[in-house]
Amino acid sequence: MNTNRKILFIVALMLIGLAIATITNVALNFREYGYNNAIEKSKMTAEIVRDGLTAHMVNGIMDKREFFLSNIANIKDVQALWIVRSNNVISQHGEGLQNEHPRDAIDEKVLKEGVIVREIRETSDNAVLRVTIPYIASAYGSPNCLSCHNAKEGDVLGAISMEFNINDIRQTGAMTIAKIFGINVLFLIVALWVTNHYFKPYMKLFENLQQGIKRARTGDFSFRFKTTLTDAGSEVAEQMNTLFEKMEETFGGIKQNLNTFVSRSNISCSDPLSSAGMIIQELSHVYKFKKTIELDSTKEVIYDRFVYVLKEKFHFTHFALYEVEKNSKERKLIHITDHKSFCMPVADSNALECRAYRTNSDIYSTDFPHVCLNCATDDKEYTCIPFNINDDLALILSYSAKDTETIEMLNLSLPSIKNYFEAAKAVIESRTLMDKLRDSSLRDGATRLYNRRFLEEFIDKSAEQALRSHTSYAVLMIDIDFFKMVNDTYGHDAGDTVIKALAEILQITVRKADLPIRYGGEEFLVLLHNTTPEGAVQVGEKIRTRFNEKKFQFGSDVVQKTLSIGIANFPSDAESIWKVIKFADLALYEGKHTGRNRVIPFEERMFNGGPEF
Ligand code: GH3
Ligand code: MG
Ligand code: MG
Repeated sequence: MNTNRKILFIVALMLIGLAIATITNVALNFREYGYNNAIEKSKMTAEIVRDGLTAHMVNGIMDKREFFLSNIANIKDVQALWIVRSNNVISQHGEGLQNEHPRDAIDEKVLKEGVIVREIRETSDNAVLRVTIPYIASAYGSPNCLSCHNAKEGDVLGAISMEFNINDIRQTGAMTIAKIFGINVLFLIVALWVTNHYFKPYMKLFENLQQGIKRARTGDFSFRFKTTLTDAGSEVAEQMNTLFEKMEETFGGIKQNLNTFVSRSNISCSDPLSSAGMIIQELSHVYKFKKTIELDSTKEVIYDRFVYVLKEKFHFTHFALYEVEKNSKERKLIHITDHKSFCMPVADSNALECRAYRTNSDIYSTDFPHVCLNCATDDKEYTCIPFNINDDLALILSYSAKDTETIEMLNLSLPSIKNYFEAAKAVIESRTLMDKLRDSSLRDGATRLYNRRFLEEFIDKSAEQALRSHTSYAVLMIDIDFFKMVNDTYGHDAGDTVIKALAEILQITVRKADLPIRYGGEEFLVLLHNTTPEGAVQVGEKIRTRFNEKKFQFGSDVVQKTLSIGIANFPSDAESIWKVIKFADLALYEGKHTGRNRVIPFEERMFNGGPEF
């Protein structure tokens, strides 16, 4: 039943209730009134009859009383009237007329007890009030009863019985009730019509609002509210329409964007609004994770964070994380939650024995018992997930549980976990590249420092990421002063010794995250990770001093050499790393021309008029 019908039903119910109450009240009043009226009439008639009979008695015409009584019986509504004599009167004055004997039990009761008896006899088409009133002997009336009757004060001398037709009153009552009923029906119809007419548009708007809000709960804001109302109702509809338009526009966009994410999430779509909220929350967690690991300098730290997320966010208790070097097929354990191995030793040494890696697909023991023949966990159920970082590297996540229910719960988190892996992919890749390059052939054979080629391959990607993660680099360009002289005086090998000594000093002076590079013959470049310009100058000074303190023994000569160092900062000096390197070179040049053995930070004036980059 809709709301409008409900209101009409309630109004109708109330009016019908009111009508029933009114009609019942009127009916009862009418009955009461008719009854009382007849009783009054009976009392009056009884008195008239008593007085009339007394008059007949006084005048000695008692034998003529029948005429009087029959006339009285003709009074309107008196259906029957008779009098009865008590035994006392009979014994004194005789039997009386033939019909003056008690006719029924009521007559006898009244004669015996001297009380008035009333009785209503009702049938479907008739209603009669029977009243029998006793005549009591009294010496105090006028005339004195005891003067004629041989009786005591209070004796019952006789009684008068009357039957009144009260059907008229009943009929009048029924008519009145019918009229009231008619008026009520009419009023009910009018009331329902008025209610319907005035309330229907509001109810329609209300139902409209209900429908629209119901659809909005499912993320559908296309509903538009309509109303025939012109007052506040139309204002409400208008405001709701504006709100829904805005919501449709905004939420539509959000929904579209989120849909791409939902496919990789375990968040259900039954309630899109709360799903969107949950997805945004998850995105924000993944984003924070990504921002955090972007600032991590090594792959190992990133893996540690993964382990943390798996334990704390996804509540994994038994799991292992592996790294697979695709070229060598070597599988390296990154983390395991207990000492027992997840896999047979053969899979630990050869990645191809790892089913998840070999098939590049998710392995669920719930799909098929003992699906991986190399699994060694004691737990009943396990899941192994491969995750490709790039052509060289993959990660494998293995986790287990004692029962099917638990593993299925953990499996629900997989889409989210994959989002974390996805977010970390680029960072791991870049850190891997860094690691790889550090140990690759892109090193200078003499000093084991990275060479210029390494710099060329590494620097663009690193600079890009540094910009995104707001990481800074200081570039130190280092050149040995008058180095040619060493070669010329002590030979090329002596020159090599000096170069190697400088390389060693660089390695022990800078931190692990910093990068010393052999840039050219006796030129070196150092990238200092997240260092302030002042800090970079301090490091430069340390290098300069340490190198200057180094004593070389060439033959009988003890030789000490000096360095000139130019410094520029990325990205504060320039957003192109190559430009920053050039600036560091310009600063170095300045050092060479202002006496050498100096650490010179880049200043803009050094570049004025320089080439465009
Ligand atoms: P300056 O103070 O201006 O730098 O003077 P310098 O003599 O050091 O001049 P420059 O930097 O141009 O010297 C470069 C010399 O370094 C030229 C080259 O003979 C020498 N050299 C470059 N690579 C090597 C190397 O691997 N071993 C040796 N022994 N010498 C090298
Ligand atoms: Mg040089
Ligand atoms: Mg030099």
